Amino acid sequence: MKALLLTEIGQPQEIITDLDLDLPEDHEVLVRTVACGLCHSDLHFRQGKWTNFPLPLVLGHEVSGVVEKVGSQVTYLKPGDHVVGCLTPFCGECDNCLKGKMYICSGEGLQRKHSSRPRLMRQGKPVSQFVNLSGFSEQMLVHERALVRIDPDFPMDIAAVMGCAVTTGMGAVFNTAEVRPGETVVVFGCGGIGLNIIQAARITGAGQVIAVDRSATKAEAALAYGATDVVIADGTEVDKVMEMTSGGVDHAFEAVGIKATAEAAFATLKAGGTATIVGLLPQGDKISVDSTMLTFDRKLQGSNMGSNRFRIDIPRYMKMYEAGQLKLDEMVTARITLDQADEALVALDHSDGITRSVVMFD
Ligand SMILES: [Zn+2]
Ligand SMILES: [Zn+2]
Repeated sequence: MKALLLTEIGQPQEIITDLDLDLPEDHEVLVRTVACGLCHSDLHFRQGKWTNFPLPLVLGHEVSGVVEKVGSQVTYLKPGDHVVGCLTPFCGECDNCLKGKMYICSGEGLQRKHSSRPRLMRQGKPVSQFVNLSGFSEQMLVHERALVRIDPDFPMDIAAVMGCAVTTGMGAVFNTAEVRPGETVVVFGCGGIGLNIIQAARITGAGQVIAVDRSATKAEAALAYGATDVVIADGTEVDKVMEMTSGGVDHAFEAVGIKATAEAAFATLKAGGTATIVGLLPQGDKISVDSTMLTFDRKLQGSNMGSNRFRIDIPRYMKMYEAGQLKLDEMVTARITLDQADEALVALDHSDGITRSVVMFD
């Protein structure tokens, strides 16, 4: 089948037509991909900022599709069901799953055993599956617990964006940081994730919500999503946030994936405040903070995929969208073909107006 294959870091991904998927084993599901959003994290892997998947590799992780075949042990899904994929499948048995933290599941048993045939092959050789999904392909072979069943009437392009940008951004506010009504919030980065953080902050009843971005266009666009104030990042953004909030915020979110903005986010906290790093920083990057700031109960924390319980969260976000609480139609600014995906992915680093491009397979 047709897919986009990364064979060399920093080089264009190649359109191929001979990707082979195996048949579903016990708990696996074969899904016909309908839509796959482009996310900055895909670009990190194309650029070699993260390298934990052997090449060749099929990227793509913000997906919606239709179930085609299910393995013998699958009872949750049947052919014809509409689904969204999530890159944090859960086993339901490890310590973290049993504590309700399935977004940091140990992942045992969710991949095939080394002795089995790989899920993805090309010309008889294994191809790596990206975060259990590999959405830049006409079909995906995934574990059933990487999928949530959705309403078949829900639009599939918006559904795809639920899989990463929405779940990551909204979850960071609702699940990881647990922002309370009236609290002050600053968000560094107004791309797809940042805008979802901003609209979640609005929904949760946050007081001041300050949007920070290098691009004036992007920062100002955040006003429509619920930002109350805008700061253009020009080197003085920390001082400006401190001034606007009379001494710092309760919650800072980093949604860029850069060391400097992560440090800036922490620097805007008032005593007792929490910085949540949502952006994916290059592998191995170290963040440095002023240790005296920690003494007044400031916290620096990560957020893996919005600390999601995606089978609960995604259907809820869909209801919120249908009720008009979530602005997502405006966020999907381009629908493209798989042939255009590599170029569009590279353009993410310097796109001003495009918030989310989605590859449509039909
Ligand atoms: Zn993503
Ligand atoms: Zn688990």
